[in-house]
Amino acid sequence: MVVFDEIDMRGHEQVVFCRDYTSGLKAIIAIHNTVLGPALGGTRMWNFKSEEDALKDVLRLSRGMTYKAAAAGLNLGGGKAVIIGDPKKDKSELLFRAFGRFVESLGGRYITAEDVGTSVEDMEYVRMETDYVTGIPVEFGGSGDPSPVTALGTFHGMKACVEEVFGTDSLKDITVAVQGVGHVGYYLCELLHKEGAKITVTDIDADKVKKVVDEFGAKSVKPDEIYDVDAEIFSPSALGGIINKDTIPKFKFKIIAGAANNQLAIEKVDGPALVEKNILYAPDYVINAGGLINVYNELEGYNREKALNQAKSIYNILKKIFQISKEENIPTYEASNRLAERRIESLRKIKSNYIL
Ligand code: NAD
Repeated sequence: MVVFDEIDMRGHEQVVFCRDYTSGLKAIIAIHNTVLGPALGGTRMWNFKSEEDALKDVLRLSRGMTYKAAAAGLNLGGGKAVIIGDPKKDKSELLFRAFGRFVESLGGRYITAEDVGTSVEDMEYVRMETDYVTGIPVEFGGSGDPSPVTALGTFHGMKACVEEVFGTDSLKDITVAVQGVGHVGYYLCELLHKEGAKITVTDIDADKVKKVVDEFGAKSVKPDEIYDVDAEIFSPSALGGIINKDTIPKFKFKIIAGAANNQLAIEKVDGPALVEKNILYAPDYVINAGGLINVYNELEGYNREKALNQAKSIYNILKKIFQISKEENIPTYEASNRLAERRIESLRKIKSNYIL
């Protein structure tokens, strides 16, 4: 593997390899782009098969954060970190504090948060060494669980889709098939129920299904039946890769609008396949940006009302994306990338003029 080729391919600014011998820390911090602001993204701890896999993952994920922050209109760049190790066996105070010192050494160019394999408790150790940590629990003065804000953003994104397809932004009597009723899915069902939508849910956890059936009058189906549900909207809120060559032929949906990350198995194949079936797809990283909006607000001095209002504005961002998609005759996933790239480019130009 040629490291600089990998870096150049995605246009990263900086990649930091972190090693601490006392704690055993092996970590990589990737700063993709800081044109809009400091690079923000969580720290993933994973037993990667190889160091190459770890590097590829951190480069891919940090680039994704650049697009997400830019499309959401935030003054943030994209970053991510990975710690190579088994989250069940290799965690220690020493390890996370050593990692925190590396974050601190970047002087705010990178801001971290919890992610897959790391917890709020782990981040408390990181925070002992650096202030560049966000997503802090309410009891420590932070913004707490981002899921209700993600759900609110997704709900308003859904309204934008419904407006686009049916000409009204009410979800009353619209049927929504929700895949996964965990943190985000539960709050989403609550909002849908209040609006008078008809909800069909699935989850591999029967207790979670029972809760939304009891509380919100949802219908339930088995996990593999969700793709066949006769609903106007499909809302993936569990897993990635679920829009693919096997599921698309089953879809009777008009809209796909959900919080899960990386919903399209293969962007360039499955994005156009949805267009072909006349299904409107709300790009995942745009509609699920409520969580990022929430931690961004924490950095600015947390104001819940402001964060919620900003999450609601995902409605307007999606409308803009649908417009680009129509005007330029491209799938919506591509339109959101263009929106993000154009914002970064225009700010880059302003900055370089200023320096000159
Ligand atoms: P979660 O783990 O609380 O919920 C996921 C749910 O999906 C669980 O209840 C799980 O049992 C269920 N599930 C797993 N496999 C399934 C399957 N095959 N079929 C049906 N259900 C299945 O996670 P969450 O925080 O609610 O996040 C949901 C999705 O949204 C994830 O993809 C996450 O990356 C993404 N997301 C979450 C946030 C947030 O603020 N929590 C922000 C942005 C994106």
